[in-house]
Amino acid sequence: MDIAPPSPAPALMAAPAPTCHNTSCRERPLVQWRRRLTVAEIEQELALEQQRRADRYELRDVQKPPPIEGPMPTGEDFVRAVLACGPHAIDIDAAALVHAADCPGPDSPTLPACGCTPEPEPEPEPVAAPELPAHWKTPTAGSN
Ligand SMILES: [Zn+2]
Ligand SMILES: [Zn+2]
Repeated sequence: MDIAPPSPAPALMAAPAPTCHNTSCRERPLVQWRRRLTVAEIEQELALEQQRRADRYELRDVQKPPPIEGPMPTGEDFVRAVLACGPHAIDIDAAALVHAADCPGPDSPTLPACGCTPEPEPEPEPVAAPELPAHWKTPTAGSN
């Protein structure tokens, strides 16, 4: 039996360079922000997660208890990046927030305002200052 010589590896296709998310703009993106997923995108993500769980179940060790999976993710667990060139970028403060799934963003006629109400910034978790042992404390001014 003849063994065919290995065929040359197919040339790797370079991924297309990302472009501005404005529907008519092909400029290179300069900035990005985050938005929530649409219902269709969430369904797609959940289907992928369901498939990953089914694959894990198929690959499980049948002599051990089945794998325990956490709760399925919700829409709160996903964000998508929105890329924009300079002229189609929203305000820098708005770009720090998570935008609605239907945010017009780089297509907004009111740029640099995006046209949606972004989610408020999450409250920072209160961090209690650790208590130092008494022999590490220095007298503060006025306490003596
Ligand atoms: Zn653009
Ligand atoms: Zn927005």
